[in-house]
Amino acid sequence: MPLCAGTKRDGGRCATIVKPPQTHCYQHDAARAGERHRAASKAARSKPGREIRDYKQEVKSLIADVKAGGQDRADAAVMLQGYRVLKDFAELERKVKETDELEARIEELARDIGEDTKGGRRWGTWNGG
Ligand SMILES: [Zn+2]
Repeated sequence: MPLCAGTKRDGGRCATIVKPPQTHCYQHDAARAGERHRAASKAARSKPGREIRDYKQEVKSLIADVKAGGQDRADAAVMLQGYRVLKDFAELERKVKETDELEARIEELARDIGEDTKGGRRWGTWNGG
């Protein structure tokens, strides 16, 4: 299995297995650095953020319609309940996404630490106990 051609911060060879024709892992692929950055910082929030803005706009116009008398109040109440459910789903989606991303990052870190400690070094005791 081919290994990533990248170098770790400590100068050691990256031990991540890559699938040809790829030569670098996700972590070391310079071409994907931007993508990586975006994935970490923005993508997690952008879609739910847009959805929430949409819902907010729709709820606002619904409220305006009720105020203006152009919308049945009972229907509006049911619709608002629906928006509440959608909001819950958006929150859940965001949490799942965050958890997935954290898991992926933890796996990467664990892999790096695992290689760094191959020579017998183990997890140190925090603060010496
Ligand atoms: Zn790598």
